Amino acid sequence: MKIAVLAGDGIGPEVTREAVRVLEALRLPDLVLLEGDVGGAAYKRQGHPLPPETLELARASDAILFGAVGDPDCDNLERHLRPEQAILGLRKELGLFANLRPAKLFKGLENASALRPEVASAIDLLIVRELNGDVYFGEKGIRTLPDGRRQGWDMMSYAEDEVRRIAHVGFKAAMGRRRKLCSVDKANVLETSQLWRDVVIEVAKDYPEVELTHMYVDNAAMQLVRNPGQFDVVVTGNLFGDILSDQASMCVGSIGLLASASLAEGDMGLYEPIHGSAPDIAGKGLANPMATILSAAMLLRHSLHLEVEASRIETAVARALADGVRGGDLGGKLGTAAIGDAVLEHL
Ligand code: NAD
Repeated sequence: MKIAVLAGDGIGPEVTREAVRVLEALRLPDLVLLEGDVGGAAYKRQGHPLPPETLELARASDAILFGAVGDPDCDNLERHLRPEQAILGLRKELGLFANLRPAKLFKGLENASALRPEVASAIDLLIVRELNGDVYFGEKGIRTLPDGRRQGWDMMSYAEDEVRRIAHVGFKAAMGRRRKLCSVDKANVLETSQLWRDVVIEVAKDYPEVELTHMYVDNAAMQLVRNPGQFDVVVTGNLFGDILSDQASMCVGSIGLLASASLAEGDMGLYEPIHGSAPDIAGKGLANPMATILSAAMLLRHSLHLEVEASRIETAVARALADGVRGGDLGGKLGTAAIGDAVLEHL
């Protein structure tokens, strides 16, 4: 079991270090962790945010544990050399097409959410977002109309195989949870969404145990803050998923707690906290490493099929939080290493 550890920039190395300590504490006999350069750090050392050696390491691995990229020193570089391009490059090269973002309210954090505690405490959902298609990747441009007005345009489209592939990810995820899948679209207005809905209904025939519902995206945005406890797994396209996954994650509190996975076909996946490199607190030992530790748990579950070990890590984080372990992001005083220690103790 080979894991590429790409820590990156800013707080990336600080939070990744703690996740690596947690993985090592599991003493999995076959686990090999191999570090690689990525992001601004890679540009500074090797002249490219995703050097060929790093890409090779990623390809030869079973999964990737990713910290964060982004370095203010690199803001004026040409776009293709900026740190953030490393993620896009990895997505493309490894065929990462499904983004999974769990959002669950941990006990003791009811007051950290922007929602009322009794509404927030019911949140335990997973957003499955398609990552490679939709209006983000269609033809686009800014043109001048015959009457001289400028017009911006972007083409939205989904081919049926793209929808089918992500729908299977959604149904399979639901099978491992409460067996409820809500497909979010805008089929009352968009033809792309109509095809999306038709294909999701076709795929549902393979999963008779899963209860499938459909929701328009505007209603989904409303329901996520009105009654988020109604959702188990939500599957949606790139554009709607981009917005809804940020909204859902903020419903459960701090950015320092939120993990994510980007999966390819098969078992390969890239696992990372949803936060960035946080240059404002980098190097100070203040970052909360829990999101990265929870990303490592997702890695064990989805790429290595080690459900027991994944749950152990999640339980250790939950118990540390229930014990009152808090970083600055949650109004506490504990630093990165002390939070890592607390999780290890519970593990
Ligand atoms: P950010 O997530 O880095 O930081 C936003 C705020 O949250 C900051 O105040 C930061 O201090 C705080 N924060 C973030 N993670 C935290 C943690 N673990 N513990 C405590 N506080 C935390 O977002 P930003 O400031 O918009 O972006 C900074 C850089 O990160 C940019 O270069 C951006 O492009 C990059 N970025 C990278 C990724 C990624 O690597 N996947 C994602 C988002 C942003």
